[in-house]
Amino acid sequence: MAQELHEECGVFGIYNDPEAVSETYWGIFSQQHRGQESAGIAVVGEDHLIAVRKGMGLVTEVLNPVLSELPRGRAAIGHVRYSTTGESEAFNAQPLLMHARFGPIALAHNGNVVNARALRDHLEEEGAVFQGTSDSEILAHLIAKSSKDSMVEALAEAVSRLLGGYAFVVLHASGLFAVRDPHGIRPLVLGRSKSGQGYVLASETCALDIVGAEYMRDIDPGELVAIGPKGMERRRVGEALPIRDCAFESVYFARADSQIRGESAQMARRRLGRVLAKEAPVDADVVVGVPDSSLPHAMGYAEASHIPFDFGLVKNRYIGRTFILPKQSDRTRQVQLKLSSVIEVVYGKRVVLVDDSLVRGTNSRYLIQLLRRSGATEVHMRIASPPYTDPCYYGIDTSRAAELAARTKSVEEIRQMVGADSLAYLSLDGLRAGLKDEGWCLACFGGGYPVVPANTKEDERG
Ligand code: AMP
Ligand code: SF4
Repeated sequence: MAQELHEECGVFGIYNDPEAVSETYWGIFSQQHRGQESAGIAVVGEDHLIAVRKGMGLVTEVLNPVLSELPRGRAAIGHVRYSTTGESEAFNAQPLLMHARFGPIALAHNGNVVNARALRDHLEEEGAVFQGTSDSEILAHLIAKSSKDSMVEALAEAVSRLLGGYAFVVLHASGLFAVRDPHGIRPLVLGRSKSGQGYVLASETCALDIVGAEYMRDIDPGELVAIGPKGMERRRVGEALPIRDCAFESVYFARADSQIRGESAQMARRRLGRVLAKEAPVDADVVVGVPDSSLPHAMGYAEASHIPFDFGLVKNRYIGRTFILPKQSDRTRQVQLKLSSVIEVVYGKRVVLVDDSLVRGTNSRYLIQLLRRSGATEVHMRIASPPYTDPCYYGIDTSRAAELAARTKSVEEIRQMVGADSLAYLSLDGLRAGLKDEGWCLACFGGGYPVVPANTKEDERG
């Protein structure tokens, strides 16, 4: 079912660039952290047709063998995808290519449309045939059945039916289109290409940097942009709703060098660590972060607590993500392969172990055992975000509601489960204070959902 598909993805689009295909390759390569299960590129050729190459695997694995088969074009989009196992079928790899009334359209999507099931049921009743389970296909069908007579009008009408957190890039012979959900939950940035003559769209600014594009601005919540031979047109889709940038992008998901609200995610993470140290101090000898994602949080904790920071854990860079493996035993084994300890840093020490988040607790439990085996006398776990109590509806795949440790357990019960001497989380107010300004989605941390679909059942969340 469409609604059971939860994707973390990265999108990229480029318009009016002679190297559109290779730039798209680099654009998705730099966003590989957003999805490692499938990758793909679509390009408009000189014949105005769209060619797509995509498949299961990393960007290099999927695209190196086939990149030269793509025609040289001046407009292209790309996608990397990471979804829960079992749903990671090849037919869900993107960009999706559809043949509609307006000719071929390619779509790539990051996020989750929360009313996907209702829309899909409705479209199927009207005779639509779906190949996969992705939300992009729903948008494509809505565009195809629109009675509007231009691509931009049809897209605007189709998008106005969607609820949720989403960022779409859409490629058509007439141009490149992009749209962001009315709360701006999922990220989408716009840049000027390095020639100064074209535009680039991406989930994160790190993708603009790699292609030499200059950051212009974030796409506004509920904004649709249409980029074509006459330049760029902007319009609002639906009512103006308050911005709700995903806080988890800043906490964990975005690459550390990507800019969010005018600063790199790394700076925000250090600040979160500093706030955490003020809220949850502890007497200890060394601060250790879980590499790589939690090192900035740990540095911030060390700065504010005046406890020395050190690299007490080492990451094996050649292990893939542990988080999404279906079996707990596999996840534990992968975590063991992924992280090891540096004995001199922790032996005989009272260690503050800082992680960006605790979801199931698998990582924490293993790491605390590891540090104790390496001679740590005490291990104090500090989490640089609040208890993760509620599943994400908007495209970050955490786990099913039942697996979220903080949903059913108290902090003390989780402390016992992971075997820490003490455990403390950043408070919700601490998270707000650590992130700049207001206007964040904090739903998974108990901050309330900006958009809740009437037809979403508890067991379908996350
Ligand atoms: P867990 O072992 O389930 O508590 O996982 C928590 C760890 O996984 C944290 O250290 C995060 O860095 C990482 N993490 C949290 N959420 C996600 C996610 N949605 N996808 C991948 N990794 C995640
Ligand atoms: Fe991000 Fe959490 Fe909101 Fe999902 S629920 S969009 S992960 S802040």
